[in-house]
Amino acid sequence: MRFSRIIVAAVAAATALGVAACGGSSGTSGSGGSTVKIGVKYDQPGLGLKSGSDYTGFDVDLARYIAKELNLGTPEFTEAISAQRETLIQSDQVKFVVGTYSITDARKEKVSFAGPYFIAGQDLLVRADDTSITGPDSLAGKKLCSVTGSTSASNLQKKVPGVNLQEYGTYSLCVDALKAKNVDALTTDDTILAGYAAQDANKGQLKVVGKTFSTENYGVGLKKGDTAFCTQVTDVLKKYISSGEWQKAVDKYFGPAGYKPGAGNPPTPAACS
Ligand code: GLU
Repeated sequence: MRFSRIIVAAVAAATALGVAACGGSSGTSGSGGSTVKIGVKYDQPGLGLKSGSDYTGFDVDLARYIAKELNLGTPEFTEAISAQRETLIQSDQVKFVVGTYSITDARKEKVSFAGPYFIAGQDLLVRADDTSITGPDSLAGKKLCSVTGSTSASNLQKKVPGVNLQEYGTYSLCVDALKAKNVDALTTDDTILAGYAAQDANKGQLKVVGKTFSTENYGVGLKKGDTAFCTQVTDVLKKYISSGEWQKAVDKYFGPAGYKPGAGNPPTPAACS
């Protein structure tokens, strides 16, 4: 009895310390082991997936590699849903974001990017028995799902004016809606769609159409104008690619889903400005 009370007290004390150590800054300060807050996706298999206390995926591994190479501290992951990425960076809630984050001029008004480190393309995910949707030209009368704040939603609206598009907060919510027949298709990057199609829970139920209609240059999002940090990250990305780590990660995370990187991969990261 008394012993268990001591344990409870010890756990409470450790928790309080942990909270104190984690609170506040996204930087590398703090006594003892430093940490670095990084924004990743939590629900995109093969890219950024949180299961329990495990984080896996192409973007997660790259985030860890950057933190290690630059000695930033132990990664502490934060969920960066599409619409929140700029805000998380601007408000210093994370030091950087690695989350299927396309480099665009509009986003560059708010954040800077190192990259590209991967090139994806927008595609469609439909139910396996659907033969009526063959590409962006066959979406008349169909209900589409994508995510608020994504290039996928805005590209689609430009490509198919007047399309019936529902915007959700995350892609996994779109997958649920697709399986429940509340929508007819989910549109976003082919990387993300391949991961969902291959997931055990969806196997045989969903398929990627396979006709990409955009170019998505993935970058590491960071504080706008922090050219010094951007240049450091760019050098790490170049090393990641030239050392073969990039290819290893592609094989590990995209191989099982049968996804092969398209033309232009691996890209050459651009200079920071
Ligand atoms: N790569 C696209 C974007 O950055 C779609 C994927 C996502 O929302 O993360 O908007």
